[in-house]
Amino acid sequence: MKRALISLAFALTALGAASTASAQGADDHSNWLKPVKPYRVVGNIYYVGSEGLPAWLITSSQGHIVLDGGQSAEGGKLIERAIQQLGFQLADVKILINTHAHYDHAGGLAVLKADTGAKLWASRLDRPALEAGHHIGGNSNGPTPFPAVKVDKAFGDGQKLRLGENALVAHLTPGHSIGCTTWTMPVTEKGRPLNVTFNCSMSVAGNQLVGNKEHRNIVADYRATFATMRSLPTDVMLPSHEQQGDLTAKRERMLRGDANAFIDPTELGRLTDRYEANFEKELARQEAAAGKPAR
Ligand SMILES: [Zn+2]
Repeated sequence: MKRALISLAFALTALGAASTASAQGADDHSNWLKPVKPYRVVGNIYYVGSEGLPAWLITSSQGHIVLDGGQSAEGGKLIERAIQQLGFQLADVKILINTHAHYDHAGGLAVLKADTGAKLWASRLDRPALEAGHHIGGNSNGPTPFPAVKVDKAFGDGQKLRLGENALVAHLTPGHSIGCTTWTMPVTEKGRPLNVTFNCSMSVAGNQLVGNKEHRNIVADYRATFATMRSLPTDVMLPSHEQQGDLTAKRERMLRGDANAFIDPTELGRLTDRYEANFEKELARQEAAAGKPAR
């Protein structure tokens, strides 16, 4: 009996370890609505997301930009509280932008737009999904709905966004969503110029890679995106999921006095290598299952 209890305890410990490991994974959503203390990252860029889902506030003397809206209306409200906690006014948020039209990054945009009066900018190809309020394109997770939101300005690749002292550039990096957008901007941190990249997701995340009727060139899009990501000079990589950039660990290092915790010019390249390998593996799997090549 005692031995059975010990082995049961051991099994539970092993189970606990396994669930801790999966808590680091992309499929764990438990921290997507968990508030964390907002903070300045570099230059005039602030973290205003939840523990698991980043959102970024980019401030200027002429008003502010918010990048990504969190998950659901509740996620949008969490971002609003973070902005206010930093001492900024919601009414000074003038422009909302979005990495991609998925519920976990676009679900709070409608509430943010209503509460700030800001204009929403989105890529031309993600616009229909934002305005319909669901993912567009074949995906094994289904359409994953979210509150629909009206886009005020739709743009293509290379769009510049200037507000006050800020100059951002939109790079279309489709694949994960059909209009996935990676934003870049220069900042100065203690006199040091740094290139910041807000990279869109590169994971397959249930996307149908073979015979996707609404996203026909999805395979070519992913491959072009890997090349684009490698071409962007990036000192500071700020991704749309916490675990893609180990943001919590970096924040802890920053709190312990490491002023360069967020600076790593090789990180985006390494992340791209990882996602490209995952993509090719998943493509091969889907092609084998379908009994035909993607194109
Ligand atoms: Zn996504």
